[in-house]
Amino acid sequence: MEISGLNIKYLSGVGDKKAAILHEELGIESYEDMLYHIPYRYIDRSRIYTISELNPQLPYIQIKAYIRDLKPVGAGKAARMVATAYDDTGELELVWFNGFKYLASQIDAQKEYLIFGQPSSFNRKLNIVHPEINPFEKTSPLLVGFQAVYPTTEKMKKAFLNSKAIGKIQESIFKSINGKIPETLPAWFLTKYKLIYLHEALFNIHFPTSPEMLQKAIFRLKFEELFYIQLNILKMKYKRKTVFKGCPFTSVGAYFNNFYNRYLPFPLTDAQKRVIREIRQDCGSGKQMNRLLQGDVGSGKTLVAVMCMLIALDNHYQTCLMAPTEILANQHFDTVSQMLKDLGITVALLTGSTKKKERTEILQRLAAGNLQIIIGTHALLEDVVAFNNVGLVIIDEQHRFGVAQRAKLWHKNNIPPHVLVMTATPIPRTLAMTLYGDLDVSVIDELPPGRKPITTLHAYENKYKEVFKFIEQELQKGRQAYIVYPLISESEKIDFHNLEEGYDKVNEYFLPRGYSCSMVHGKMKAVDKDEEMRRFVNGETQILVATTVIEVGVNVPNASIMVIESAERFGLSQLHQLRGRVGRGAEQSYCILMTSYKISNDSRKRIETMTSTNDGFEIAEADLKLRGPGDIEGTQQSGLTCNLKVANLGKDALILNEACRVAGSILENDPDLIKEENAVFASQIKRLFKTKINWRFIS
Ligand code: ADP
Ligand code: MG
Repeated sequence: MEISGLNIKYLSGVGDKKAAILHEELGIESYEDMLYHIPYRYIDRSRIYTISELNPQLPYIQIKAYIRDLKPVGAGKAARMVATAYDDTGELELVWFNGFKYLASQIDAQKEYLIFGQPSSFNRKLNIVHPEINPFEKTSPLLVGFQAVYPTTEKMKKAFLNSKAIGKIQESIFKSINGKIPETLPAWFLTKYKLIYLHEALFNIHFPTSPEMLQKAIFRLKFEELFYIQLNILKMKYKRKTVFKGCPFTSVGAYFNNFYNRYLPFPLTDAQKRVIREIRQDCGSGKQMNRLLQGDVGSGKTLVAVMCMLIALDNHYQTCLMAPTEILANQHFDTVSQMLKDLGITVALLTGSTKKKERTEILQRLAAGNLQIIIGTHALLEDVVAFNNVGLVIIDEQHRFGVAQRAKLWHKNNIPPHVLVMTATPIPRTLAMTLYGDLDVSVIDELPPGRKPITTLHAYENKYKEVFKFIEQELQKGRQAYIVYPLISESEKIDFHNLEEGYDKVNEYFLPRGYSCSMVHGKMKAVDKDEEMRRFVNGETQILVATTVIEVGVNVPNASIMVIESAERFGLSQLHQLRGRVGRGAEQSYCILMTSYKISNDSRKRIETMTSTNDGFEIAEADLKLRGPGDIEGTQQSGLTCNLKVANLGKDALILNEACRVAGSILENDPDLIKEENAVFASQIKRLFKTKINWRFIS
């Protein structure tokens, strides 16, 4: 029986209306969708607590107690019913905000009750709000053990689709299919890895028969989910490595060696050395390289890029470096030209602002093979840009580019060029394995020596005068400062207003003290923006008031203060990127996170993370835990989603590692999954991943 083909609307108790809401709210249509709507937690009804054991940190629990003094208190909106529950060890308050009449008829002072709910505290008194109460002797055996709690939405609750109702639907599914759920893993595999059957796992995840079975069910489902993702990704990786040839970079020659021996601006860090070696080996293998280079802001990715470009030149290939903004492309062009100026290498810059005449000339030289390195923006992707023989493409700040754009680069050579994608957005390892499992990953996990860690502070916005004063002290030492305002697209007008207001406030304070400001924001014309940036870069202005346009890549080593206004409105990785704009020189740098007084718990955690660590990977892990993988910056723009139903990349790293290892060992013996014993895998992969575009080949 195909449970994916059975529609839940025909189940008893569901019907058209509820089915429509389940579809709208959760995307659930079939029995299978519903069975994979997994409880997000379980209520432990396996034991009874005593009142003295309770504290507000506990989850939902149950106690056995008598109830006395049921009475109404308060009026209007605060009207409520309270009562005291007591056992031999103590007492606590029970509170209800509705259903008063029904309550009064339910409670009998002579009887003992099983009281169920979450302890909290109010006015330092322990209470349970809206407890579920059942006379103790009537407690059915069903209420003892684990009970599933399902995610629901407001709309669902209004349509009587609360957690309990979902449980009922799950129950009718099991009744109607009579335990027959087709197995999705081969029998030998279940035995080898000690996994329970799918039908057992799905039943126990909804109706745990024991804590042990619940654990086994969770493990089986998580393991399977991660295993198939890994199997699919790794299968494609094997294929790419066997099907596509790459430009063979067989040797390292004069350009590389000359630069390394004579012009290297500073000794490479060990991490830079290791990464260059990895890239060199990969490009020399005869296979096409598809590599992600992760390195925190300021870790020195540009130098690595330059040295890899030299390897391409040594093997008589052209190479290009693409950046997401003009400012960045210009900056790269300056850095690279400066580093290579004595090596007799031809370098050109191509952006949207390149004049027509110059552009024509550049394009001619590029096509004729008289230009070795080209640096630019999206302009490089245009069809008119044709290379003579491009062997290596480097893309900086990867998450700004979409898949389709990267694909274009592939076609700029007969043999696809090697691709190196550089990103400063650290991605937790589990996420990288899942999203980029087919890419090889190199990590620069070390900053150049002598960097002073940035000091990060949190300040409430009413303290802005003190903050300004602090900025002033730094400016007096000859430093520069950034002040950043958030920009949220749906309220652009308000944001712009905030920015201008902020700009006025800053000017009002600093102009009379002899300091001047630049301002840049996304709505400005590129020329104006560049002019304002130029003034700041050259030190004509001391303060740059900006929206997040400065997030990526801007390099002004003299800037030592970053103030982020309304920091609670930024995501963790964005805060980290912004902070990375300072701490680039020899001076002690500061990042000040300004927030309003009232901020959410999650915002507070983000701010705490920022003030406690400078480590991008740690921050990325925290981000993953706080937000879940679907929202991690960069995953959406790059066209990747990672919708896991059961597993959680923030928590299941160990299972993921094991799933990856197992998938690898299967592919090693049967890369195309054509052996009989692997037939189930092949058909599952086809079924699970049929709708996804095969973007991995082109990333
Ligand atoms: P990112 O990885 O953020 O792109 P950059 O390549 O811009 O970092 O490098 C940041 C700064 O560190 C630059 O000023 C660069 O000159 C410097 N730098 C890079 N590598 C080293 C090194 N090995 N030793 C000292 N400074 C370095
Ligand atoms: Mg960079």
